[in-house]
Amino acid sequence: MIIHSSFFTIFAETFTMFTSYSKYLDQAINEIAKLPGIGKRTALRLALHINKLEDDDARILSESILNLKTKIVKCSVCHNISDDAICEICRQPKRNTQTICVVQDIRDLIAIENTAQYSGLYHVLGGVISPMDGIGPAQLSLSEFFKRIDSEEVEEVILALPATVEGDTTNFYIYKNIKDKVRKITTLARGVGIGEELEYADEVTLGRSLHTRTDFEMQYQKR
Ligand SMILES: [Zn+2]
Repeated sequence: MIIHSSFFTIFAETFTMFTSYSKYLDQAINEIAKLPGIGKRTALRLALHINKLEDDDARILSESILNLKTKIVKCSVCHNISDDAICEICRQPKRNTQTICVVQDIRDLIAIENTAQYSGLYHVLGGVISPMDGIGPAQLSLSEFFKRIDSEEVEEVILALPATVEGDTTNFYIYKNIKDKVRKITTLARGVGIGEELEYADEVTLGRSLHTRTDFEMQYQKR
């Protein structure tokens, strides 16, 4: 009987605490709880915190959320996020424009930038080839990348995709398409562990694996 009542208390707490006294609070909780890693309890705490903010702070918060959707565009060259048609990295005059580093997503670009060990350009694919998830070459910015290879003077392409089956498949697909056009195709040294996303590699390890990058063909043949 005791077990029963405590079960119902927990059950009731879990499901009634979110049927609050304000439909606005309920709505905010529901929306915040849709964010990754945020449960309803945390959503409630955040919603109540926002409710206590100064008007200006709440307005800036809501505007910055809206701006993420309305003001940010994709760089027309490298597909990095940008506030302008061409991103800051592509516009920097000191960049080595003969090297392009291919990354899965913007988080990996940020991770490599944080190492301060790379001065070339990027190309953000928007994912990796993964037939199981219905992602083929057409779903990624690969044709745009191949156009860059045809139109820009590229000396080296660094394949910095995750060390996963999907990453390897994508590496090989790119390699096949550009091997006759680019003199040097390299890949990150596997200091970044198998299956480990670039984003989670520490800056020193990632910087080192950039420095000791190896010829893609040689590494491919070794396997
Ligand atoms: Zn760009």
